[in-house]
Parts: sequence; structure tokens; C-alpha cells
Amino acid sequence: MTYSKKITCLALLAFTACGTAGDESTTDSASTTDSASASDGATEGGATDGETGDTGATPDVLDPALFHIFALVSDFTKVDCTLTDGSSSTCYTVTVRNEPAQWGPGCPSTDSEVGGVGFYDPDGVPVLYALDAELWALMEADGFDIVDDQGNVNVVAPTGPPGMGGGDPPVTNGACLDAELVDTLEMTYFIPAKPALSGSTTQVAVPAVPYSGISLDGLPLAPAPPPTVMGGMAALPALDPCGGHPEPDGPFHWHLTPQESNHVLDANGIRDDVRCGAIEQVSDAVIGYGADGFPIYGSQDPDGTTPGDLDECHGHDALGGYHYHVSATDAPNNITCLKGLLATNFLVRK
Ligand SMILES: [Zn+2]
Ligand SMILES: [Zn+2]
Repeated sequence: MTYSKKITCLALLAFTACGTAGDESTTDSASTTDSASASDGATEGGATDGETGDTGATPDVLDPALFHIFALVSDFTKVDCTLTDGSSSTCYTVTVRNEPAQWGPGCPSTDSEVGGVGFYDPDGVPVLYALDAELWALMEADGFDIVDDQGNVNVVAPTGPPGMGGGDPPVTNGACLDAELVDTLEMTYFIPAKPALSGSTTQVAVPAVPYSGISLDGLPLAPAPPPTVMGGMAALPALDPCGGHPEPDGPFHWHLTPQESNHVLDANGIRDDVRCGAIEQVSDAVIGYGADGFPIYGSQDPDGTTPGDLDECHGHDALGGYHYHVSATDAPNNITCLKGLLATNFLVRK
């Protein structure tokens, strides 16, 4: 398969079946790397549909067939895992190479161009802006120096400790940050197959729990990006219009739920030439899974209604089980806490 073919496929069909048979979804996008060398004790045997040797009466919650992973390294299998309360459980595991089907733009190189989006927070409250001359003028008016006399934007590739929401604090008084994508990095996830409420709330926060879940494209969902303005300096991490960017030396991750990103951009008054084109916008279906294994839906339930009974983690027990919803209007909009038990190793870098 070629890159452009995949792009076309994704652009046309996005998270609906990319091909004819739904069961081919994961194998269809298998990467050319043959590192199917089963990882971390994962059971051999290629693609499974999650029905391997189940003894429990309740079905698994996670459905591998919903995923459409561009750079799949090894397909979903089930393995023994340990949860954060010390109990033994069964988890799905999948290994993904760090490459989205399509991403960008991030920072524009001049003030006559338009890039993606970013959060500017001079008052400590992150507000979503398009990366354009209007934002640079706003930042310059606040005393930061981000555009030179020739109209060139100060674009910096941030470095920092490996991944997981790290990165060094800003060291300039005005920069747009575009991290390099490390497309050789592999991430292995462990997600409880039968999620269980923990009775408490886990806040998603660097470094212990940097990601709230996994998107159906196999890339992690993150809550708010780090602050832009710190200690009188400003460095603004660029997001592409679907809400994603690479971590310096770490996973590409989504700060906006990619399937709801255009709704969020609309709701936040972002100019209409900055929109997510690569990922189909979906509100009333599963868009990913929390790190605890509970499904994450878009802003609506499958019947098209917007739930009004969500808890502090944007979850509720409805339609046959506990699940989360993301907002179609908040920016950022990914869930920021979890109600279930997590595997002790949700995302492992390789
Ligand atoms: Zn980030
Ligand atoms: Zn719901």
C-alpha cells in the first residue's frame, strides 16, 4: 500500500470501514515493518477478534474491529495484566508505530501564512487560536517577540526528556513550537478487556498518567497541552487542525478529539480555512477508549441525544454500561480523569 492510497482511503472513509470487510480493518492497515515478533509475551497467532478462550460470561468491552490504525505493528491480542489496585486481569495489547495517517500544518513560517491551532494562555486560561498573524499580533502586544521584521515566525523544534508529556519549559520570549515526529518509535498499549469502576477518580496528569486513552487511529488522547506562557516567556506548541502533534522524542498525540475537532474549532470561532480534513467527524459513536478500557463516545449517544447526566470525568452509566463522552464545544475537549482501574502500563514506549 502506498501512503497516498491510505490517505485517500482515510479521507473518504475515515473511521468507517476502510475496505469491504470490517474484519480486515486492522490487517488492512498493517505496516510494512514485519515486527509482528509478538511483544511482551503477547500470545502469538495474529489477529484475534477478542474471543480467545474467554471464560467470563460478560463480553469484552473493547472491540478491536473499530480501530483503523495506519502504522500497525502487531494486532490486538489478549494477555494477562496487572491493574492499578494490584489485581490480575486480562488486557488487550496492540503495538503501533508512531505515525498518523496525515498531520499538519503546525507552525507557519511567516506571518502571511496560516498554520494549525494552538492554546495561548497569558491569563492562565488556555484559549484556542488559529496560528496566524492575528495571534502573533496579540502576542506581540502582550510583550512577546515572535515575528521578526521580515515577517518570519520564530519556529523552534522543542527538545526534552523522552515523551510522556515532558519537554523543556520555554526558553525564548516568543516561539511557535513544532516538534519532530519520531516515526521509528513504537508504542504498546495495555487496555483492560473488561473494565471495572475503581470507586475513585484518577486524574490524567504528567508524568504518572499522561494520556487519558487511545483514539481509534491508535494514537493516544491527551488532556490540555503544557502552558504557553511561563515565567514571562512564551512558547506555543502548535497543533494541527485535527488537534494533534508529536511529543518531543515521544508519541504523536491528540489534544483535541480528532473526530470532534471541527466542531470544537467551529464552537471556538476559529477561521474556517483551518479545519481537520483527514479524519471524519463523528459525534454519536465510539471514538476511542479510556486508558481504563471504558469506551469514549463523541458528544452524543448513539440515539443522537447529548447526555445531561455526566459525572466529573464526563462519563455516565447508560446504554448498557459506563462510558465517557467528549465535548463538541470545549477546548481542549478530551476527558481529563478516569473512573476505572487502569493497567499499570497503559502505554509502553519501544
Ligand atoms: Zn502535546
Ligand atoms: Zn452516553
